[in-house]
Amino acid sequence: MTLSSIQARHYDTDDPIVVSFDDGVICDISPLESRSENVLVLAPGLVDVQVNGYGGQEFNDPELTAEKVLQICLAMDRDGVTQFCPTFTTQSFELLRHSMATVAQAIDEHADIADRCTVLHLEGPYISDEDGPRGAHPLEHVRPPCWDEFQQLQSAARGKIGILTLSPEFPQAEQFIQQVVDSGVVVAIGHTAASSMQITAAIDAGATMSTHLGNGAHGTIRRHPNYIWDQIAADELTCSLIADGHHLPTSVIKSIIRAKTSERCVLVSDITGMGGMPPGKYTSSGLGDVEVLENGRLVVPGQSQLLAGASFPIGAGIATLTENAGIDLGTAVDMASIGPANIIKHELAPLEVDAGVDLVFFEIRDGKFVVHTTVNRGRIVYQAS
Ligand SMILES: [Zn+2]
Repeated sequence: MTLSSIQARHYDTDDPIVVSFDDGVICDISPLESRSENVLVLAPGLVDVQVNGYGGQEFNDPELTAEKVLQICLAMDRDGVTQFCPTFTTQSFELLRHSMATVAQAIDEHADIADRCTVLHLEGPYISDEDGPRGAHPLEHVRPPCWDEFQQLQSAARGKIGILTLSPEFPQAEQFIQQVVDSGVVVAIGHTAASSMQITAAIDAGATMSTHLGNGAHGTIRRHPNYIWDQIAADELTCSLIADGHHLPTSVIKSIIRAKTSERCVLVSDITGMGGMPPGKYTSSGLGDVEVLENGRLVVPGQSQLLAGASFPIGAGIATLTENAGIDLGTAVDMASIGPANIIKHELAPLEVDAGVDLVFFEIRDGKFVVHTTVNRGRIVYQAS
């Protein structure tokens, strides 16, 4: 199904508009005289650079198949996500190689997958082994950076690894970061217990990103200096934030965005394979025993405080920013679309004539990001019933 024309509110200007399409491309945007009450917001499709899985399926899976990859890709349509990075967390070399090779081959062989993802994100295994910074990554598989291993994984991934999240706390980190950056991969600092000097050295070596800043950190740290302040202050680093209302207090999100500016902040979901699952207890999730609460929060079973991972799509972050953090809708949407698209060099035009059309029609209702229609490369791929 393709689009001909639609009435909407422009996500950035809030103006009522009529957008006309010709063969999957915007051919006209005209102002709409009367503002109808229930017109939806029209925005560029959402881009999520950190997606671990969805609907009960992780990308890191010894049994992963192209069919399972396709299922995750199609499920992302429901959330208005038109481009995302399959993300692979710390695991054995064999499992990482299998998972990434499977996804890379699936991208090359299925147009429906290639339309939705092209770049892979490797998060680990070269991260801190300390409790807190390590997060939920399995200790037994955490290891120091190894250029030889990374090259083998990159070749298994058919050259599609575009983001590598690591900790720069290892002696060989500087040289390793330089090599990875020279090979065309974005290096992100994350899951780290690095010192100020190590953070600075990583930036000098070419690191340009911070992964889910404020999470994957010690519960208690020295007030200053510390690796959070260091990364907030570094203009060279664009940080990703999990703004799902559970991972970071609103005051932290607001402070980081104000300090770094919205141009240097992007939203990610970091959603696990438990994303999109109905409330209940699960035993064989790949994350160990977990529980999805009635409000969607993913926790260690039997309590409500200790998070077991993220389970909300990236749109939830847009709602958090606009409803609670004083960020205007246009800025919040850019942080979940244009901003992350730039990081992975994915072409995503703002709403303008001749722009290719990855689009989402949505509203924010009762504090929730509600998707009505998702358009991927000019095709309607999801419509709410
Ligand atoms: Zn992480």
